[in-house]
Amino acid sequence: MDDFICTGSLCPDTCCQGWEIVIDEATCERYAKMPDGEVRDLLSRAIVHRQEEQADGSSAEIACIRMGKGQRCLFLRNDGWCLIQRKTTETNLSETCRTYPRVIYCWNESYAERALCVSCPEAARLILGTDEPLRFHTKQLPEAELAGLRITDEGEHLRADCLPLRRFIVHILQSDTQPLARRLQLADEFFWAATDCSGHHADKKQQDLQAAFEAQLAVEVDPPALLKNNDAWRLAQLQQLLELRLKNPELRPDFRWRAEGALKGWGMTVGEAVSADSLARYEEDQSVYQLFFLPEYQQLLENYLVNAVFKNLFMTEEQPDYYREWFRLVLQFSLVRCLLIAQLAARQDVPDRESVIELIQQTTRAIGHDALYLDQAAASLTVGQDAAQALQAFCQRILKG
Ligand code: SF4
Repeated sequence: MDDFICTGSLCPDTCCQGWEIVIDEATCERYAKMPDGEVRDLLSRAIVHRQEEQADGSSAEIACIRMGKGQRCLFLRNDGWCLIQRKTTETNLSETCRTYPRVIYCWNESYAERALCVSCPEAARLILGTDEPLRFHTKQLPEAELAGLRITDEGEHLRADCLPLRRFIVHILQSDTQPLARRLQLADEFFWAATDCSGHHADKKQQDLQAAFEAQLAVEVDPPALLKNNDAWRLAQLQQLLELRLKNPELRPDFRWRAEGALKGWGMTVGEAVSADSLARYEEDQSVYQLFFLPEYQQLLENYLVNAVFKNLFMTEEQPDYYREWFRLVLQFSLVRCLLIAQLAARQDVPDRESVIELIQQTTRAIGHDALYLDQAAASLTVGQDAAQALQAFCQRILKG
C-alpha cells in the first residue's frame, strides 16, 4: 500500500479508459459549482445519470462519466494526464478516481482495511512481481486520511468471526508444507466448514476447526493426483464460463483474444460439447503447466489468491450470502489458471513474469469488475438448487475432482 504510486501517462492500461466511472453525489454537486468555465462546461456534458438496479431489487440513480472516443474518459488528456487534476486539485476528483486501485473498508467506525486491486498494472506489478509472500501491517491512521476516498460496503458491520476466518485462510494459502493446489482445496474446505461455526460457542467451534485443518496441512500429498480425475467436467465448466463472457459485445479486445484463443487452441467450438480430442489436448497442456509453470510461478499465484482474500472476503451482518465472494474468487482463479495453461501452450514456452502479470491484470479487469457477469455465472450454476450448496459443490469440484 505505501509503495503504490500511479504511473499516470506511462500506464499501459489506464483506468481512465474502457469502463464506466461512477461519480459520487458530493462530487456532482461540487462540479456543478466549479469556478473554471471550461471544466464546468465539459462536466455538464460529460456526466450522465442513469438508474441502476440495487442488490435488494430497488433501483437507484447513479452518475457516471460518459466515455468518449476509444472508450476514453472525456477528461483524459492526450498526454495521459487528467484535465480535472491539471486544472484544479487532486481533492477535486471523484471518490472513485481518487481511490482506485485502492480498495478501502471501514468497519464499525474503528477499524479500516486497505488493499490494492490487481486490475491496475502498477498494483499488479507490486503484488505479483515479488518472490516474497505478501505481508500485512496494522497502524494508526488519522481519519482525515480517508476523507474524500471511496469506502466500500460503507455502514456495514463486520461479523465477529470474520477476521479469524480470513486470517486462517491466508495462513493456509501461505503454508509452504503443501503445493498451492492442495492449499486452495483445504482453504475451500475450511471456508465452507467455517460457515457452520456461527451461533453458540462459535469461537470454540472455529478453534477446533482450525486445529483440524492445521493437522491436514501437515499431511503430505502427491501433487499430480490432485486434479486428474475430473478434467472433462472442469473443461466443460470453463468453456461455459468463457462463452458466457464472450457474449458481451463490449468485452475488451485483449481479453476476447485470450478467451477465443484458449477455446480454439483446444479445438473447442462454441455451443458444442467437449470432444475427446479437446480433453486430451487440455490434459496434456495442464501437465506441462504443472511441471514447468507452477515451479516458477507458485509464489506469484499464492500472492494473487492471498490478495483476493484480503481485498474481497468479508462476512458482514448485512450480507448473509457472503459465500458468493468466495465463489467469485474461486471462479476467477479457475479462469486465470485456464488462460495461463492456454498461454503456455500457445507459446510452447514458460512465459516471462510481465506476460503472466498482464494476463492476470487483464482478466481481473474483464471478469473481476463485472458484477453482472459474476451474478450470471452464479445463476447458471444454481438453477433450481439451494444457492449456497450449488456454489459450494462447484467450488469443491473445480478445485478437486
Ligand atoms: S490503472 Fe493504476 S497506474 Fe494506471 S492510471 Fe490507473 S491508477 Fe494509475
